[in-house]
Amino acid sequence: TVASLHTDDSLKAIDASHHLHPFTNTHALNAKGARVITRAQGVYLWDSEGHKILDGMAGLWCVNMGYGRKELINAAHQQLEVLPFYNTFFQTSHEPVIKLAQAIAEITPADLNHVFFANSGSEAVDTLIRLVRHYWSLEGKPSKNIIIARENAYHGSTIAGSSLGGMSGMHKQGGPWVPNIERIRQPYYYGEADNQEQSPEAFGLACARALEDKILEVGAENVAAFIGEPVQGAGGVIVPPNTYWPEIQRICKKYDILLASDEVICGFGRTGYWFGCENFGFTPDIMTMAKGLSSGYMPISAVAINDRITSTLLAHDDDFNHGFTYSGHPVAAAVALANIRLMQQENIVNHVHSDTAPYFQQRIREALKDHPLVGHIEGVGLLAGIALVQDKSTRTLYPDNIDIGLVCRDHCFENGLIMRAVGSRMVLSPPLVITHDQIDELCEKARLCFDLTL
Ligand code: PLP
Repeated sequence: TVASLHTDDSLKAIDASHHLHPFTNTHALNAKGARVITRAQGVYLWDSEGHKILDGMAGLWCVNMGYGRKELINAAHQQLEVLPFYNTFFQTSHEPVIKLAQAIAEITPADLNHVFFANSGSEAVDTLIRLVRHYWSLEGKPSKNIIIARENAYHGSTIAGSSLGGMSGMHKQGGPWVPNIERIRQPYYYGEADNQEQSPEAFGLACARALEDKILEVGAENVAAFIGEPVQGAGGVIVPPNTYWPEIQRICKKYDILLASDEVICGFGRTGYWFGCENFGFTPDIMTMAKGLSSGYMPISAVAINDRITSTLLAHDDDFNHGFTYSGHPVAAAVALANIRLMQQENIVNHVHSDTAPYFQQRIREALKDHPLVGHIEGVGLLAGIALVQDKSTRTLYPDNIDIGLVCRDHCFENGLIMRAVGSRMVLSPPLVITHDQIDELCEKARLCFDLTL
């Protein structure tokens, strides 16, 4: 293998010479070299120097069923032998994609009964943008094409996905952006409640009503959809107050605006339900999913649409002019199907809901809540976001010249724990199969690394 032909240092040097990493300061990375990950099992990774690392991020919020699952490996292998590729464009289909569409229709809530496939969360989001605009056009209301999203939302890295998202760092590079996108504030109580006397419930309602204000500002006749992640993941694990989503749903209904849930992180058990919308009490018209769909074993994503959207599409004798060569790739579909079956066999969503998540949420608070660096901990299911502050009592953040999140992340990395930094927030999203003992280990390591960060 490549790894056996090269020493660790020479691999790092080749990486630095030829590999441009995503979302990375390459200048800083090349000064030390990338850590080369060589294998993984369960919730652990190993690097080329033999270090064992607890993966507190499930890869990138995706390896939900853990590493080394034979059921998923065998599904890929068998499908590669039988039919490694065929397209789903030209009047053809195949068994893995047919069964996967049915399985997704069964596990998604309400009447989300039709599924369109893509390869990444970003492509699913691009598909969603085209679909909702196309829908209103078919309905004879082409002016309804504005999509409302939120500040600090992450909806992917394509030009359309990053236009929709509210990541200012992305907006500074590579524009111009997709037009007819509007944004409203995020429901981030700890960081953005104007008045600390206000209850989280009142704050949640106020944030949802920002949607109504925006609709009235631009005109409901011009708005196609509202999109949000049930819990903002890449924005730092921002858990909205319980009042937020039901009010968003009420407003969307009132103004006849489609409600879109971006479930790329929250889907597939992450919050203790199959989909995050079920946790927060709303039913979307359209939802995107990726990551946990295949536990990250193959790149695959999907958009599920309800009967309302489907019936309008089907009522018109016309092509939907959109798709990807690998839409419904048979190997990716076979792995995703095997992943859903494995989740069902192991009853993992219920297990997370009733056992792992309560334990994780309790232990992470016990380990870190009193730590001088920790201003606040929020989380749901197997997601946690931890706000780092210089002064707990005043919630003062570290000055801009101290990137405290990266300092903490690096201590974790050096001490055998993957935790991600999002600005001054540390986030966790471990595999759903993590055990109590492994949660204890994660919490102990996190405490040690927070101590080292001080
Ligand atoms: N949407 C959400 C909510 C995400 O969290 C992500 C990725 O983290 C995406 C979309 C984009 O997915 P991908 O990186 O697979 O393109």
